[in-house]
Amino acid sequence: MLVSKFCAAPGDGFSVLPEGIASSCFDVTEQSDPRARIFHYGRYDQSADRFVFDHQRLAGLRALSVENLSFCRDCFCRWHCAGDCLAKVFERSGSASHEGSPRCGLNRALTLADLQDLVRAETPVRIVSNEVAP
Ligand code: SF4
Ligand code: SF4
Repeated sequence: MLVSKFCAAPGDGFSVLPEGIASSCFDVTEQSDPRARIFHYGRYDQSADRFVFDHQRLAGLRALSVENLSFCRDCFCRWHCAGDCLAKVFERSGSASHEGSPRCGLNRALTLADLQDLVRAETPVRIVSNEVAP
């Protein structure tokens, strides 16, 4: 697959925690989690009966697709891994800065093995894209 986001966390995910917090990541479920400042982008306002969103935070999330991740710029599986799971990457960096993780080596090895299989395959390859890569 050709993708620019590993999952919906860069601005597309909408999960609601029991206390009414909107999170773009399934894994960041506690307000005390330092990553909540990145992935929690809104809350349900009971008195107004509507959600209120932090549009600045949402814009920050949407900017986390792989074309904006300088760490991934020269990685050959950039458009397949697409920056990997940001929750895990940011847990390691302690901020919204993408500095990779030990998973990069694994992702690259798996992607290389897949590419080698495709090169050896006798049947034509069908490219599937759920995002338009620039
Ligand atoms: S845990 Fe990782 S893969 Fe799952 S939603 Fe969060 S950022 Fe995406
Ligand atoms: S393997 Fe690492 S450097 Fe390559 S795209 Fe994935 S997160 Fe980025």
